[in-house]
Amino acid sequence: MYEDKKNAIVTGAARGIGKEIAIGLAKKGLNVVVSDIMKEEAEKTANEIKKLGVKAIVVIADVSKPDDAVRLVKETVDAFGSVDFLINNAGITRDNLAVRMSEADWDLVLNINLKGTFLCTQAAVKEMMKKRFGRIVNISSVSGILGTAGQVNYAASKAGVMALTKTFAREYGARNITTNAIAPGYIITEMTEKLPESVREEYLKNIPLKRGGTPEDISNVVNFLISPEGSYITGTTINVSGGLVI
Ligand code: NAP
Repeated sequence: MYEDKKNAIVTGAARGIGKEIAIGLAKKGLNVVVSDIMKEEAEKTANEIKKLGVKAIVVIADVSKPDDAVRLVKETVDAFGSVDFLINNAGITRDNLAVRMSEADWDLVLNINLKGTFLCTQAAVKEMMKKRFGRIVNISSVSGILGTAGQVNYAASKAGVMALTKTFAREYGARNITTNAIAPGYIITEMTEKLPESVREEYLKNIPLKRGGTPEDISNVVNFLISPEGSYITGTTINVSGGLVI
């Protein structure tokens, strides 16, 4: 990791992939802002992180709310002095066939997954530009590459995240800010435990590596993308799916 860049925000960090990303960053010596809408769980995660010998604070923020995104960045700067790394991980699903999907479920998923990523990135980039340094990783999904039946809102939001990633990469590369995305495949978390058994079996059938991924598989790639070794990569999406997408 960089000697003098120490401060990271992870959204949706209370549990699942976000929690593992937050722990992975702490293991590399970074201070972590654990941001989520679930206070109790977020505090548990922050306490686990502090045991790793770094600083951790909780900022309760709904990424889809512009004021929350701005406050998230402000509270990070107030507590740690800078935002060096931003991991936009908060995301939800509200699945249904397209013909049955309500406008409310369309809006909710787009607002959290896509608009939330935009709002947090916009707020963080303003700070990163002042320091001429920033590393941003957006958690997209293979659904945004493949399209997934029953997930028109989710797939569209995650495809949008990939396009947003490319655009931020082009606009802020000259300020030494890289923006990349990860498209996880089938990762075993509470989100995917909710899927019907038949859907999970179908995934496994199509994964050449014949296993679901772990949150750590994603955290490892985040650590690479924000490290000096990953500093010449920007605007890309790395598919971490055991070969589900080839
Ligand atoms: P998860 O276990 O449901 O965790 C997501 C976290 O984000 C939860 O703590 C959730 O809080 C929080 N969150 C929800 N809405 C939020 C908001 N408006 N503002 C801030 N935080 C919010 O999901 P996960 O499986 O770890 O997924 C993490 C990311 O990976 C998501 O972007 C997801 O789309 C992506 N992904 C996951 C998989 C997979 O197989 N699991 C595959 C591809 C991509 P609540 O619990 O209160 O909602």
